[in-house]
Amino acid sequence: MIVTFPDITPDLKAAMPELRGRLLANQRLSELTWFRVGGPAQVLFTPADEDDLAYFLKRLPQELQVYVVGVGSNLIVRDGGMPGVVIRLAPRAFGETSAAGDVVTAGAAALDKRVAETAAAADIGGMEFFFGIPGTVGGALRMNAGANGGETKDVLIEATGIGRDGTKHTFGNADMKFVYRNSGVDPSIVFTSARFRGRITDADAIRARMNEVQTHRETAQPIREKTGGSTFKNPPGNSAWKLIDAAGCRGLKVGGAQVSEMHCNFLINTGNATGHDIETLGETVRERVKQASGIELHWEIKRIGKS
Ligand SMILES: Cc1cc2nc3c(=O)[nH]c(=O)nc-3n(C[C@H](O)[C@H](O)[C@H](O)COP(=O)(O)OP(=O)(O)OC[C@H]3O[C@@H](n4cnc5c(N)ncnc54)[C@H](O)[C@@H]3O)c2cc1C
Repeated sequence: MIVTFPDITPDLKAAMPELRGRLLANQRLSELTWFRVGGPAQVLFTPADEDDLAYFLKRLPQELQVYVVGVGSNLIVRDGGMPGVVIRLAPRAFGETSAAGDVVTAGAAALDKRVAETAAAADIGGMEFFFGIPGTVGGALRMNAGANGGETKDVLIEATGIGRDGTKHTFGNADMKFVYRNSGVDPSIVFTSARFRGRITDADAIRARMNEVQTHRETAQPIREKTGGSTFKNPPGNSAWKLIDAAGCRGLKVGGAQVSEMHCNFLINTGNATGHDIETLGETVRERVKQASGIELHWEIKRIGKS
């Protein structure tokens, strides 16, 4: 299925003469996500910096839908693509990380792994869990990303972001309204940076912990596949993978999508899956788990765009 949206970039450029970032029409989102599926973005905007992002959002017609992506490690893009604007923060403008005392500052496009490395280089412990999460700081703020006993909410001091009207906001830890794998901050906020606090720790202990995190990943998760990580949230007091396994779904296939044999809360694009295959497989798993256990699984992965 080939989807093409009307090109509105000339109108946007005309309405925003001072825009410095890049506006591209009909850009394939499959290239920007781990699953490698889905249709295009009507417009893909890469802001030059925070002021450029604010200028863009302020002047963007209200009726246009806006969605921000990180590195797409938690996204299924549907095959009909994303009407409106998709924003992607480039590492060159939003990817800086630095450490001072027990605080790490990071741009929203910095990889979580880089945050862990920056912390480790400054003897700051408590951020080793970031080492194994393949997303960006922006994605971690939105998802309250966590692993190996730590999560974003444990270390966040504050985050900054730009609202749909171009206004800059600062959110303290409590303002982020973090819950398990989510934040309650208005979904229209585009996070641009964050500050995290750890604790000064012995460098060898930090490195050992990061190695542990990495080894656990390599042995327990299909991290080299086209996947989106954990598909469903763990129900309270239970594990999604155990329920999926008990419902007989390990290895289940729909088209080119398959439930991972290695970790059955991971779905995989085996090569030629569509967004529809992956979402249908996920829904099939949900139904089977419901039938087998009476428990309803909830998606952790975000599904975006038109079917
Ligand atoms: C192999 C693998 C292993 C994984 N393991 C883990 C794990 O252990 N723990 C875990 O928590 N997750 C895990 N994930 C899921 C994923 O890495 C996290 O959810 C990550 O935080 C997503 O970051 P991202 O930059 O890829 O965001 P995306 O997938 O691009 O987007 C996810 C959400 O974040 C929002 N978002 C992204 N950037 C911004 C921004 N700048 N401002 C506002 N919102 C933004 C998007 O709009 C979307 O709602 C794994 C994924 C894979 C593929």
